Amino acid sequence: MTARIIDGKALSDTVRAEVAERVKALRAQNIHPGLAVVLVGEDPASQVYVRNKAAACEKAGLHSRVIRMGQDSTEAELLDVVQQLNEDPSIHGILVQLPLPGHMNAAKVIEAISAEKDVDGFHISNAGLLMTGKPLFRPCTPYGVMRMLESENVPIRGAEAVVVGASNIVGKPMAMLLLAAGATVTLCNSKTRDLGAQTRRADILVVATGKPGMITADMIKPGAVVIDVGINRLEDGRLVGDVDFEGAREVAGAITPVPGGVGPMTIAMLLVNTVEAAERSAARQQQPL
Ligand code: NDP
Repeated sequence: MTARIIDGKALSDTVRAEVAERVKALRAQNIHPGLAVVLVGEDPASQVYVRNKAAACEKAGLHSRVIRMGQDSTEAELLDVVQQLNEDPSIHGILVQLPLPGHMNAAKVIEAISAEKDVDGFHISNAGLLMTGKPLFRPCTPYGVMRMLESENVPIRGAEAVVVGASNIVGKPMAMLLLAAGATVTLCNSKTRDLGAQTRRADILVVATGKPGMITADMIKPGAVVIDVGINRLEDGRLVGDVDFEGAREVAGAITPVPGGVGPMTIAMLLVNTVEAAERSAARQQQPL
């Protein structure tokens, strides 16, 4: 069997076009959705991510504000910036690009972002809301994966879903969203005994470990849907996922490529979250006092 390739780039274009329509509707009510991205330091990968996020906003008609702070800025200075953005009515979403320099406490900074503007969905109240099945924001990467499964008409209710990797930003929220959609979910980490025995049960296998090519063809159930979240740059400069793509595509029913799979969806869902925040803010303004 040769797997169907799930085209994240094409789907992300569709999602961005939907966002642009929602932005138009908001602008007709004099609301211009805005995203603020705060970048501390000079990390080259972060610079690229921030540039891409700002460009994606502009293209979809949102306005973006990029705030660059020096590597040796203090945590107090960053908290001040976050506070100002919390109070700024023209900003509906705030994102502090991670990782932060070592002298800053990322958890403290994220908790300082207003939960209503936390478009990454990393704030502890948003994690709690997701956990209790009433999400305000869904973290962008798992949200994008759910959108991919939906657009591919993958049956989730009653399916066996296995998530490999249990980080707060990908694996755990991924498991919660799959569970909420009715899957039976297994969440694996680096201590999982006999990982292959777990992954071979999966109708839906989502992998987010940061370990290039660790999921091999023999670990995949024939016909499974395989979603590779990993983005790893090899020494020769190539970008690869956490799944051995060439081997896996001979066994899986459908598979996401790297690049061109989950990556483009993550940015598209950031735009969705920002528009959702602006729509909620508009609805609050329209409520009678
Ligand atoms: P983290 O390093 O925060 O978490 C990795 C997780 O994988 C941990 O739970 C770890 O287990 C688990 N793990 C590591 N090795 C193994 C193993 N051999 N077997 C089973 N589990 C293992 O990574 P992130 O979640 O932040 O990112 C994961 C990958 O996804 C990276 O490649 C990253 O670049 C990519 N990524 C891609 C995005 C996109 O838009 N496509 C967005 C975000 C991330 P333990 O808990 O035991 O340590």
